[in-house]
Amino acid sequence: MNFTIDTINTLDTNKIWFFRFKKLPNASIIITNDAWKFHFFSDKDFKNFLSWDVEKLSNYSDLVKKWFIKDTWYQEKLVWSVAMKNHFVGIWPTLHMVVTTLRCNHKCKYCHAAVAPMSAKQFDMDEDTARKVVDAILHTNSQSLTIEFQGWESLVNYPIVQFITEYATTRAQHLQKQLSFSIVTNLTLMSEEKLSWLLDHQVDICTSLDGDELSHNNNRTWYEWNSFEMVSYWIKRVSEEKQKRGMWKIWALLTVTKETLPRYREIIDAYIDLDLDSIFLRWLNPYWFAASDLRTLAYKDDEWIDFYKKSLDYIIELNKKGIKFKESMTMVYLMKIFSSIDPWYMDIRSPSGIAIGWVAYNYDGKVYASDESRMLGRMGIEDFFMTELQETWKDTYWAMMNSDITKIAVQSSCLDGLPGYNEHAYKPFVWVDIIHNFKTKGNIYYPYKKDNKFYLQEAILDYIFEKLQNPETEKILLDWLQ
Ligand code: SF4
Repeated sequence: MNFTIDTINTLDTNKIWFFRFKKLPNASIIITNDAWKFHFFSDKDFKNFLSWDVEKLSNYSDLVKKWFIKDTWYQEKLVWSVAMKNHFVGIWPTLHMVVTTLRCNHKCKYCHAAVAPMSAKQFDMDEDTARKVVDAILHTNSQSLTIEFQGWESLVNYPIVQFITEYATTRAQHLQKQLSFSIVTNLTLMSEEKLSWLLDHQVDICTSLDGDELSHNNNRTWYEWNSFEMVSYWIKRVSEEKQKRGMWKIWALLTVTKETLPRYREIIDAYIDLDLDSIFLRWLNPYWFAASDLRTLAYKDDEWIDFYKKSLDYIIELNKKGIKFKESMTMVYLMKIFSSIDPWYMDIRSPSGIAIGWVAYNYDGKVYASDESRMLGRMGIEDFFMTELQETWKDTYWAMMNSDITKIAVQSSCLDGLPGYNEHAYKPFVWVDIIHNFKTKGNIYYPYKKDNKFYLQEAILDYIFEKLQNPETEKILLDWLQ
């Protein structure tokens, strides 16, 4: 359809609120607004909408409810809706990642440049640093906080995990803050004793599973044993124990490499065999491995998109057969689209969660603006290093929040005002990954047309919106949100 400057000049803004639009690959038109609402149009209805013959539209009242068409009370209702969707901007930061060690017993293909050998105990966090980390975390401005133990392999420095958990729990009670814990582990150093202790202390457990035995062991090299066998055993055990205690199932993360692309069915089947209820189709990030590895591990954006679509189609087919299984990235976008509040996913925000949503505390007391920032730090790229831990928590928090990194991260990842992103129909649902752009293009500001993370997000959203136009698949996807 033709949308010319003359059409724009006839727009009656007394009736219609600001909107963005785009043509979807299946030729229908989607409009969105800053209350994160969307609506599909046929060409004809879109013309009626633009010519302000809105009363002719069959879904007039629906458009009023979504604030595309103004009614008497739209401003008051709209302010509330926009505030709810952006409530995270007043709460800084809530997710605190603690790198307890750089050591690990694995040498995964996408990590081996960064991991320290098991004998290198100098890369463990000590008690003094751990205490200062906890004090800094608990005095940030959020009332509700999560401490996530990250590693390289966090169970290698298990005594510090225990120390932080106990010390932070006591301090949080004293300060009347809500605190939750999670640990990211390859599970190969898990034991019955550790499992009980972690769950008794409300430490949630998350692991990595790169699919079936062939795909997993191909990516995740472990010279002492069969990594897939060990992680499968512990996934089952952790799930059993968690279910006994009425907790959520264990959460597993997949990292997609070139060799796993054609094996999407086997990978999803492996997750289902282990009684997991979701998979996170994470693309590869270029942080740890050397450039030579990228050539064997990485893939083109379109190859990942093809993998994503096939995987999602397969998962939807399984759902049609009664197997309840979800794809987590799709879930995040569905929550962005349908929930009345932001889903609290640190990346996909404007401004992004870097520095103000999550921060990472390295084993040596260095504080980074995010998990990826500390990975870059490990590669000798210190551009997103915020501060060392200071003598007092107050000084640390002040140094974090007043660092140039924080200011630049907020300013450069806020889509309002970023050319291209700001005008795009998917602006309410996407984010700009400034660290990715910095690492791959050498610039945190990068034209959106060349931003491959944006390209991936647009393809995901195109596909989700296509699925939402089919009543059967729409029902399945909406059921995931229940
Ligand atoms: S990806 Fe995880 S398990 Fe693999 S080597 Fe790195 S830290 Fe270890």
